[in-house]
Amino acid sequence: MRHRIAVVGGGPGGLTFAHVLHRHGLPVAVLERDATPDARPPGGTLDLHAGMGQLALDKAGLLTQFRALSRPEGQAMRILDPNGTVLRDWRPGPDDRANPEIDRGQLRDLLLGPLDVQWGRGVTQVVPGTRDGVLVRFADGRQETFDLVVGADGAWSRVRPAVSAAVPHYTGVTSVETSLDDVDTRHPELARLIGDGALAVYGANRALVAQRNSGGHVKVYAQFRAPLDWHADLDLADVEAVRSSLLALFDGWAAPVLDLLRRGTTFVHRPLHVLPVSHCWTHVPGVTLLGDAAHLMPPLGAGANLAMLEGAELAESIADCSGDLDEVVRAFEEQMWARAGRWATITTAGLERLVSPDPAEALALFDQVQSS
Ligand SMILES: Cc1cc2nc3c(=O)[nH]c(=O)nc-3n(C[C@H](O)[C@H](O)[C@H](O)COP(=O)(O)OP(=O)(O)OC[C@H]3O[C@@H](n4cnc5c(N)ncnc54)[C@H](O)[C@@H]3O)c2cc1C
Repeated sequence: MRHRIAVVGGGPGGLTFAHVLHRHGLPVAVLERDATPDARPPGGTLDLHAGMGQLALDKAGLLTQFRALSRPEGQAMRILDPNGTVLRDWRPGPDDRANPEIDRGQLRDLLLGPLDVQWGRGVTQVVPGTRDGVLVRFADGRQETFDLVVGADGAWSRVRPAVSAAVPHYTGVTSVETSLDDVDTRHPELARLIGDGALAVYGANRALVAQRNSGGHVKVYAQFRAPLDWHADLDLADVEAVRSSLLALFDGWAAPVLDLLRRGTTFVHRPLHVLPVSHCWTHVPGVTLLGDAAHLMPPLGAGANLAMLEGAELAESIADCSGDLDEVVRAFEEQMWARAGRWATITTAGLERLVSPDPAEALALFDQVQSS
């Protein structure tokens, strides 16, 4: 018997889930709130780990295409102190494919491939246990029922309340993102400073991180500890006001480092929220979560990898299932909670050390990660 399966959210997790089901010849409704694939800027670059995101792409049959698009050189990492002194300069070996980078937009297009996504279908509520299955309500007033609804709708999931009362809380660290275009020709000195991958500068309770994307595009993240309403007296839509406020916050840092903020175009405020570290719930038949909807954690290189691996694993288990679909989902949840709990612990401790009163903590963390 064919099950009526829906996934809410067309991010890395939801699309990987749908792609693997599609590969196994199983239909799935992909319900995405955005009106079109390009309704929003796709975001920055993601590093996909060999045993996680890359494994998921392998299960989707997309590993060769990923290798052609990804940037192994993007694994390079340079660390400076606020005076501009280079403290570390790691470069990947010629065959190092452990964590290559890919632009989010490229990954999304790769995963979209043959999928028939239902764009502009924002979900407002999911009600399990109705006579005809799990009811999904949409923002346009329509509703539909399914046998299984997978919430892959990110941090502020509208599916999550069907299984859990948890809501994300603020970490105390916020991030303001800006970008530089065409950096190699327009800002060659910054291109040299950043190198092939990422540059990070750590001071007391603040950090500046610049990451190369493809095509000479660079994303810059100013991260700092601050109350959630730190911008109460600032108009976040006023580019020059935000720039001045950030330059004041990083006052005294070396001029070439501050140029990352001086040359940035627009500024986007992204306070970092997380779910409780070992978030889990009492199983609800017909509904589950994966990715950020299930285990939002600090953005330290694990979230998309986990979301994709979970999507691929759940889809494979469903494809292999000849009995009770609900048992498959229960087993998936147990595995997801255990693994995500470990990563949430690591990334939570990582954020404490990266944006810490003592910048030596950040360097020590990188030394540990690079030597492991
Ligand atoms: C600056 C930054 C850098 C990062 N770098 C990395 C990295 O290098 N490696 C890594 O592994 N992770 C990284 N992460 C984390 C990663 O971005 C997330 O963990 C990942 O995107 C989660 O994927 P997801 O599919 O669960 O959710 P999302 O990517 O959030 O996708 C959710 C989708 O659901 C849709 N949606 C939302 N609500 C609804 C609704 N009500 N109805 C229908 N659709 C809806 C959204 O439009 C979106 O398309 C980074 C995060 C940040 C902020």
